Amino acid sequence: MPETDDNFLAQLDDIARILIRERADDASPVIPPTKPGDVGALFESHAPEEGQAWADTLAQIEERVLPHTTRWGHPGFFGYFPAGTSEPAILGELLAAGLGQQGMLWQTSPVCTELETRVMDWLARALGLPERFCAEPIGAAPGVPVGGGVIQGTASEAALCVIAAARDRALNRLPEGERWPTRCVVYTSEQSHSSIEKACRVLGPQMVARAVPTDDTLAMDPDALERSIAADVRTQGVVPCCVVATLGTTATCAVDPIEAIGRIAREHHLWAHADAAYMGAQLILPEQRHHAKGVERFDSFTMNPHKWLLVNFDCSALWLSPGARRDLIGTMSITPEYLRTSASDSGSVIDYRDWHVPLGRRFRALKLWMVLRHFGLVGLRSYIQRHLDWAQELVAWLEADKRFEVAFPVESGLVCCALHDDDATRTLMERVNATGEVFLTHCVVPVRGRSRYLVRIAFGNSQTQPSHVQRLFELFDTHAHTP
Ligand code: PLP
Repeated sequence: MPETDDNFLAQLDDIARILIRERADDASPVIPPTKPGDVGALFESHAPEEGQAWADTLAQIEERVLPHTTRWGHPGFFGYFPAGTSEPAILGELLAAGLGQQGMLWQTSPVCTELETRVMDWLARALGLPERFCAEPIGAAPGVPVGGGVIQGTASEAALCVIAAARDRALNRLPEGERWPTRCVVYTSEQSHSSIEKACRVLGPQMVARAVPTDDTLAMDPDALERSIAADVRTQGVVPCCVVATLGTTATCAVDPIEAIGRIAREHHLWAHADAAYMGAQLILPEQRHHAKGVERFDSFTMNPHKWLLVNFDCSALWLSPGARRDLIGTMSITPEYLRTSASDSGSVIDYRDWHVPLGRRFRALKLWMVLRHFGLVGLRSYIQRHLDWAQELVAWLEADKRFEVAFPVESGLVCCALHDDDATRTLMERVNATGEVFLTHCVVPVRGRSRYLVRIAFGNSQTQPSHVQRLFELFDTHAHTP
């Protein structure tokens, strides 16, 4: 620990200077030239016996840490989906760390709890989600059950919670003697994120993840979903429990038909969950909300402010309908004596420990609140709009050049493209990445019935400017020429 307040302030300055310098640096390569084991070899095998001077630690940060970071904030980082950040988010994270709030119960941090409730309602409304996902719905009659939002670490954790609760909801409908060894089925498209299958695996052999075929746009085929459910309903010892629709699949940003899936889920009493990890941020633009039309029939909805909404990792937003909130708490809540408080017993407060797997929880609402306050919805809308516009601009340039093929209509901030054959596309991506100026990742998906290797270009980085998009296209142009 620093010995004086002045030291602490000076150290904060040192860190701020590093962050400012890093942000301005678009000359260093996006991916460090680090080889496996290089970093481990720089650090001793034991912790120091004596405390070390800040100057030495700072020198080690400069020499041993910074040269080996993957620069997710680099303006040329177009890989995976973005992991955004911003000054208000960094300040919020710092303040939360310093305040050391542990918000497992309302009593252990009233502000961690109540600010989270409030700011999740803000965000639900900012995205145009139904009021039934809010904890304090506008116009609701007193005493009527309400839904609400909770900040999870990741969309994967959100999916795990939701699927566990959906399983229990389905099993609780059965007579007690029939609940085991019944198998519970979760339907999700062949293109959904691996976290859905992982959630089923973690929840044990009782859970089955059923991959539903997709159409030409790689969106879930609702007729195939119907057929799959019907087959399971006819099978002894199998209970359909949940359908997970994706709004913006990881590979290509395909959008599952939310309205049809919600209707089918209702018909068969399935929990409907929407995973909008990346693309959910786009709903901040009213004209983009058609993608989520029908979501009012869903039980739960997730999106990650830590991807495209300028909040640093981790911050994943999960909203629940009133029934889903009740069922999630039913699954997650275990109350040993040492966690009992009079506030909890009164039933008038939220204890967010009952809304996810961990007991302890960070004060993540602070950075989300600070980002929403700093940019305002107007600022966030123009931020997202800019990325959508650049994606369309890039599509136009690619389409005007006969060497390139844009694989799917672009509805979001992700562009997937290819050269005439897979080897050429892979080589193009490797060459462009080798420049260090940009970083792209790939996917392999069916395009018109044929498996294709596609380069993905994901927008959402706060440092990217039009000049970087132009440079990306120049690199494509140059390296597509190279034999
Ligand atoms: N769902 C989708 C559609 C994703 O694209 C991703 C990650 O990119 C995830 C879930 C997992 O996100 P997280 O890292 O928050 O678990």
